[in-house]
Amino acid sequence: MLPKIDVPIYTVNLVSTGKPVRFRPFLVKEQKLFLMASESDDQKETVDIVRQVLKNCILDEIDINNIPTFDLEFLFMNLRARSVEEVVDLKYKCNNTVKNEKGEDKTCTGSVDFKFNLLEIHPTKSENHTNKITITENVGICLKYPTFEMIQKYEKMDEKNIIMSILIDCIDYIYDKDSTYYSKDTSKKELEEFVDNLQQSHLEKIKVFFETMPEIKKEVNFKCPKCDYEENITIKGLQNFFV
Ligand SMILES: [Zn+2]
Repeated sequence: MLPKIDVPIYTVNLVSTGKPVRFRPFLVKEQKLFLMASESDDQKETVDIVRQVLKNCILDEIDINNIPTFDLEFLFMNLRARSVEEVVDLKYKCNNTVKNEKGEDKTCTGSVDFKFNLLEIHPTKSENHTNKITITENVGICLKYPTFEMIQKYEKMDEKNIIMSILIDCIDYIYDKDSTYYSKDTSKKELEEFVDNLQQSHLEKIKVFFETMPEIKKEVNFKCPKCDYEENITIKGLQNFFV
């Protein structure tokens, strides 16, 4: 029998719970799956492959369909860093408008190369982030984070139904001074009615919850070597680190 090769095991703590999750790097068998994903135009197939790779490589029992999307992105980023390379190179082009020799406006073509160590990027919550939304003095909502499974469901929906669905799916429970009403124990119709009766000001508060939840981002200072244009840019979202 041929010898078995030991695979290193790494640990990363989930952002939402702080709990450690053990994983191994991708192996050739998972690289083959990624190759299939890159050749496919079908987004569902790509998502299924990412899910399969995560399932293969994560050694602890976690339900990856039901963890917050930022946990999933963070896991994937760590998996990628440990399997491929920790440092990624990104190139940014200057979009500043400058004058050419004839005095005409044109876009500057200066560019800057950035190097990021993926292991140094950690999603953090904004300071004013809260999952408790006060509706009236006695009534409030406790929200939970969107998951992979939810996002997949929305992909097939019309835009006008998405907002309602996100809202309903992300209600963990509604409370008043007497009781707590978990959404899992409440009918969809009742939840829809509850959401329909919210005011714009409540929706604004809910929006803040989504805008301030943890996300993968990195701020960098961009200074164009060609026209000296300077700007602080924030790179957000997993896909923008792997272009
Ligand atoms: Zn420039």
